[in-house]
Amino acid sequence: MKLIRKISDLRESLKTYDDKSSTGFIPTMGFLHEGHLSLIKKSISENDVTIVSIFVNPIQFGPEEDFGTYPRDLKKDTILLESFGVDILFHPEKEEIFPENFNTTVKVSELDNVLCGASRPGHFDGVTTIVMKLFNIIDPDIAYFGQKDAQQLIIIKKMTMDLNLDVKLKSIPVVREKDGLAMSSRNIRLSEKGRKSANILNRALKISKETIVNNKVFDPDLIKELIRKMIESEKSIIIDYIEIVSLDLLEKIKKIDMNNTLVAVAINIDGVRLIDNFILGDI
Ligand code: AMP
Repeated sequence: MKLIRKISDLRESLKTYDDKSSTGFIPTMGFLHEGHLSLIKKSISENDVTIVSIFVNPIQFGPEEDFGTYPRDLKKDTILLESFGVDILFHPEKEEIFPENFNTTVKVSELDNVLCGASRPGHFDGVTTIVMKLFNIIDPDIAYFGQKDAQQLIIIKKMTMDLNLDVKLKSIPVVREKDGLAMSSRNIRLSEKGRKSANILNRALKISKETIVNNKVFDPDLIKELIRKMIESEKSIIIDYIEIVSLDLLEKIKKIDMNNTLVAVAINIDGVRLIDNFILGDI
């Protein structure tokens, strides 16, 4: 595996591959876990060349957010990626991607106003700007994203469509710990007690999904209330949002549609922000 830090070196390296070889790309912020690895494995099985980026993207963090304390372990990540057979790890410095005079933002309007976008103003502008830059640098055939960040995936799909980008997007379902907690690089920052409490997130979503599917309860307010009550049973949790929206437009809905619904939750425990969701339909 090549570890590359400069854009020019990456471009040179990409030229050495046959024009006909397909390239799979997985953008990450590192501190890799099984969730990332499921995307990477998929890319390796589907492409001749797999490129992973590790870049803790400063412009997608708000001033009060955890950019500084976001977990990092390049050594461990490198060993892991090497053992999986990744071809290139792109790990640029902040200045390589965002030089001092950087002045451009890629913005997907409307979809970025709700859910995490409402609580984290500017977050998705940061995400779409970095993903657009990485797509331009790497020019992948297929890019892989996790459904754990469902809103991010929907926004990147819209950007790809609106800007006629020549890249196919593929998504992978949420990968979970044994007790159901969605894997996240941030889980490491939870206290032992917080880690136990965090499990309620998955349980609440699981029960609400069963209530929709088995008991045919399609009223979003009733489902939101069910989730809220369960999460509130854990006193250490601060709820950011519980939302039920359409999967395509992320708009509030009056009735849950079995083919077009996103149920998404964001909470804070121990000052750590966690998100989780389930979808009814395809993304
Ligand atoms: P991150 O490093 O958190 O920016 O994530 C990089 C990619 O991995 C994104 O496409 C995420 O959606 C995906 N990802 C992160 N956690 C999970 C998970 N638990 N299951 C599936 N995909 C995930």
